[in-house]
Amino acid sequence: MDLKTQELINKGEMLPLMEEFYTIQGEGAHTGTAAYFIRIGGCDVGCHWCDVKESWDANLHPPTDTDIIVANAKKYAETVVITGGEPLMWSLDYITNLLQENGIKTHIETSGAYDFSGKWDWFCLSPKKTKLPLDRAYEEADELKMIIHNKNDFQFAEEQAAKVGKKCKLFLQPEWSKKEKMTPMIIDYVMENPKWRISLQTHKYLNIP
Ligand code: SF4
Repeated sequence: MDLKTQELINKGEMLPLMEEFYTIQGEGAHTGTAAYFIRIGGCDVGCHWCDVKESWDANLHPPTDTDIIVANAKKYAETVVITGGEPLMWSLDYITNLLQENGIKTHIETSGAYDFSGKWDWFCLSPKKTKLPLDRAYEEADELKMIIHNKNDFQFAEEQAAKVGKKCKLFLQPEWSKKEKMTPMIIDYVMENPKWRISLQTHKYLNIP
């Protein structure tokens, strides 16, 4: 990569874009609402069940002019969800300022394991055991989304819920490949512990991206 491109990436004026698409948010607090998804490449958190492993190597995703990404989003949506990969590996101040200047709400889905950047209308924190969130991410979280892959994950979910603020909504979501086994357990758990809500990956049931 040439120096100029690297400099623009460092400033967030270019980002390694994996894909962008207009769809329905399938998970969590905004389930069922239309949003433009911007998926940025790069992640070293290493979840073994990750369903977007092709995002991990940022070098496979072309550095893209952030102004163009925002112009594309503006054609479609009132809300943008920035996801990955792990989007906080990149500086997100430039893109979120520009989106908000254009009247677009900014949502993020992150593991919280990297330094905070950006201006967010909604901060969805999804902690992973392999690389825990930094303190700032717990402070920012509007929504805590815990992926339940096995029984031990309930304990981890409780540990993480103890670290977020009172305003934060709490979700348990079955990991897709284990949903037949874990969904009934989550249903029971939520009924016994009603501070939690269940989140399903409804976009996968609807067969949309
Ligand atoms: S943090 Fe997200 S993108 Fe990264 S490995 Fe885990 S599930 Fe995959």
